[in-house]
Amino acid sequence: MGTGQIASSSRSRWRSLAALLLALLLSVCAALPALSAVPAPPSPLRLNAGDNSFSLSPSVRYWHDQHASASPDQAFAQAHAGAFVPLPNGNPAFGFQAGAYWFHLPVENLQRDEPLWILVQEYALSDRLDLYLRYPDGHVEHTAGGDHVPFADRFIRYRHPNFRLDLPAGQRVELLLRVQSESSMQVPLALYTPKAFAELLRDAQFSNGLYYGIVLALLCYNLVLWLMLRDASYFWYLLHTGAFGLVLFTLNGYGFEYLWPTSAWLADASIPLSICLALIGMQLFARSFLDLHIRWPTGDKVCLGVVVFFAALGIAATWLPYSIATPIASRAVLLGVVWIIVATVVMLRRGYQPARLFLIAWALFLSGTAAFTLLAFGVLPRNFWTQNGVQIGSALELLLLSLALGKRYASLREENIRIVQETNEKLERGLIDRTRELRTAMAELGEANVRLQEYSRRDPLTGAYNRRHFREAFAQMLESRNGSGRRIALLLLDLDFFKRINDSHGHPAGDSCLVEAARRIEEVAAQRDGLVARFGGEEFVVALSCRDAQDALQVAEAIRLRIQQDPVCHEKLAIRLSVSIGIHTVSSERGSSAEEVIRIADEALYRAKDDGRNCVRHSLSAV
Ligand code: GH3
Ligand code: MG
Ligand code: MG
Repeated sequence: MGTGQIASSSRSRWRSLAALLLALLLSVCAALPALSAVPAPPSPLRLNAGDNSFSLSPSVRYWHDQHASASPDQAFAQAHAGAFVPLPNGNPAFGFQAGAYWFHLPVENLQRDEPLWILVQEYALSDRLDLYLRYPDGHVEHTAGGDHVPFADRFIRYRHPNFRLDLPAGQRVELLLRVQSESSMQVPLALYTPKAFAELLRDAQFSNGLYYGIVLALLCYNLVLWLMLRDASYFWYLLHTGAFGLVLFTLNGYGFEYLWPTSAWLADASIPLSICLALIGMQLFARSFLDLHIRWPTGDKVCLGVVVFFAALGIAATWLPYSIATPIASRAVLLGVVWIIVATVVMLRRGYQPARLFLIAWALFLSGTAAFTLLAFGVLPRNFWTQNGVQIGSALELLLLSLALGKRYASLREENIRIVQETNEKLERGLIDRTRELRTAMAELGEANVRLQEYSRRDPLTGAYNRRHFREAFAQMLESRNGSGRRIALLLLDLDFFKRINDSHGHPAGDSCLVEAARRIEEVAAQRDGLVARFGGEEFVVALSCRDAQDALQVAEAIRLRIQQDPVCHEKLAIRLSVSIGIHTVSSERGSSAEEVIRIADEALYRAKDDGRNCVRHSLSAV
């Protein structure tokens, strides 16, 4: 029996919460017919032996004092005149109403050992409550409560307004309660014996402690993560969770009890303010979690628009009457949540995987709230899950969101690793390509260099080695003499009367003759591995290894004959050539410098010229 009453009071408490948090099912619920008819209240309510808690909703009668002008005596008179009626369908919620509501119930306590009872208004946000108890002797006792009366004035320091009832056994006491509030007119009244009240506290403390424990743990956990990771999503999650926790904290009456026990202004403004803050946190969290500014810029703008709307509403709530600000804020919650679900579905359809858990989290929150709303309208049966729908739904939501944050972080990290890997691979590939290109370029450069070196050693007209290269090569040849007994011969060649050829046939013809002469000299010298160079003008030089002077003379003679053998053809001209050759041979042991050898060979060449040209002279012949 006691548990049933507690459950009933819990239902009343959470009904207001559901109406504030989610108007999702408003349209459905509005269409729902009342499923249970309330029987006419017995009068008076008898507190029988064994009963230790009562919900007064089925028995109490009410009267709406539109102008809030009636005095307690007038209200008692109205009650006796039959102006008070039972609660509509036994429901103690009237929505936002002007004026004052009066509730009347005669009570007769039949329990001799239980003269002290506690009347609890199980809704935390009512502004002002005035309780009048009229005893059989006619005297009236008055006590005041509500969040416009300092918290310390309460009979029991408890989150819901409560009043001490002294009900002498067997006496009929009239209970008259006047309620006036800018908040929603909800008056779920219950009577408890001190023992039943202690049990109520115990159960409520457990479930609320569990809930706020989860919220606090998630706050601390994610605060640490935010401090470590500095990911903005964690910060917005903290704001959302903190502000949402504050909404429930305030709705449950803890805000007035612990945070602003003497401030009537904050008691009123905290509800729309915390709702706006929670909604702002919710939007900014969703925006950051879903990466809207990158993945869906239009959605991002809508999100910011919703944030601006709630910020403006929050600011307005500081001066707007509670009865205007709170209904707008609580209805706008639907807008906020529906928008987040739309954005999440869009992100899911765009293939953003972390959105899946995010969607499940919000769906759980919605279904928990929906379950509670359906219970409030009698569609779902009353059980643990439906009664605590909002708390279970939001706790699961907050848990899953925290999990989703973790998963998102993991997936971002994986994406980062993948990007780094891809970039590295790309860089490596690029590096390999560049290295290959560089190698090719180096090889080409090397080849070009070799060609350039070769060009620098060659005479451009005849293609034979030039004088500079010859000097180096010949000097090396002399240095590397190995004492093999062979000799080195130097043949210095000068074409005879070459000036005449130029003069008679032109310079190009002379060039052709030079090219052909070089070719013929190389042809013969190649048989003896001789080194041939153009020494300058129409002079050539040949260096080769030979057995003796006679051997060298033979080679020179072969060259001379080859030069004069056939005329050189140039543009239908046949030009005859002859050459004079001077020779000097050195032994493979004796050291003599290249200059000296060339000089001596040159002397031999002079002699050949002197001897009439077209002949070969050896330096020895002059000795
Ligand atoms: P000698 O029999 O005494 O050697 O008579 P020569 O005319 O050959 O000797 P000289 O030294 O008087 O003339 C050499 C000529 O060779 C002069 C120059 O015009 C010619 N000559 C030198 N280099 C080149 C060349 O690259 N091309 C052409 N066409 N002629 C050249
Ligand atoms: Mg000459
Ligand atoms: Mg000459």
